[in-house]
Amino acid sequence: SDRLVSRERTAGDGQDVSLRPMTLADFTGQKQVRENLSIFIQAARSRGESLDHVLLFGPPGLGKTTLAQIVAKEMGAGFRATSGPVIAKAGDLAALLTNLQPHDVLFIDEIHRLSPAVEEILYPAMEDFHLDLIIGEGPAARSVRIDLPPFTLVGATTRSGLITRPLRERFGIPLRMQFYEPEELQLIVSRAARLLDMPLLPEGALEIARRSRGTPRVAGRLLRRVRDFAAVAGAEVIDARAADIALTRLEVDRLGFDAMDRRYLNCIANNYGGGPVGVETLAAALSEQRDVLEEVIEPYLIQQGLLQRTPRGRLLTDMGYRYLGLPAPVATPA
Ligand code: ATP
Repeated sequence: SDRLVSRERTAGDGQDVSLRPMTLADFTGQKQVRENLSIFIQAARSRGESLDHVLLFGPPGLGKTTLAQIVAKEMGAGFRATSGPVIAKAGDLAALLTNLQPHDVLFIDEIHRLSPAVEEILYPAMEDFHLDLIIGEGPAARSVRIDLPPFTLVGATTRSGLITRPLRERFGIPLRMQFYEPEELQLIVSRAARLLDMPLLPEGALEIARRSRGTPRVAGRLLRRVRDFAAVAGAEVIDARAADIALTRLEVDRLGFDAMDRRYLNCIANNYGGGPVGVETLAAALSEQRDVLEEVIEPYLIQQGLLQRTPRGRLLTDMGYRYLGLPAPVATPA
């Protein structure tokens, strides 16, 4: 579909390969993540060792894949990418691992979706770079040990709670990615516009940045759509007003919320008295996948203070009511 906000990368996203920053210095924002990585990379390099395994968590589109590629570049190592659901059998992972060169970075996106059998294989590989494989079946089955080159696993997941504890504990460097600040996204948008040869003024970039729900991938999509609108309108420069017109046409409001966000919030307010309501119930009511609600829609609403995740379900906050222009229900004593 043509949704601006989605879990999957779509055509245009990877299109401008040159837009991807290649060094840590070119990577904007995520200051703490960047500083930590920089220190660990320098230390590993000076010891001539592979970098310890890195676990990145955060919502889709925050630059986890980009960062994993940068880690490989900065280590002067090769980069291989795959994802949890793609690795069906233990043998698939074994084939990947035995083909690595020393110090290579293996990126596994959606690492929480590895099957338990595949995860088992990963433990000794991560811990001391070997595989324990069972060859053959029945009485003829035997276990063989295969040594692996030292490598760095970079795993990505949307939430730390999704990953099993034994797997999580094998990552020496866990890093949490945050939503970007508008000023950081403004830099990212301006850089992309420059590379795309777009006449985007700083105020136009800030307008797009403010309405990109803290996410570079969304900013990139909005930028391309603004470019289309401006081209059709014959605009010579793209200022805040031109950006606003385009974004409003896309139903992205001043705060960066889109039609889906409003549908989600209205559903809790109007159908469930503001909550708490379970995510499964909401997914059914909205005909959306639960994963999409949890990974794409909710994190930003929570970060913006419109929604709370409680043990009993999703709860609209006073701010959420205010955003919808509805009166918040008066709290009844328990
Ligand atoms: P994730 O793996 O977290 O889902 P990603 O790494 O695939 O995200 P993209 O969706 O490719 O991120 O991000 C869109 C584009 O935004 C990237 O191609 C890259 O050019 C740019 N980008 C992302 N993060 C940054 C950043 N911190 N600084 C500069 N550019 C960035």
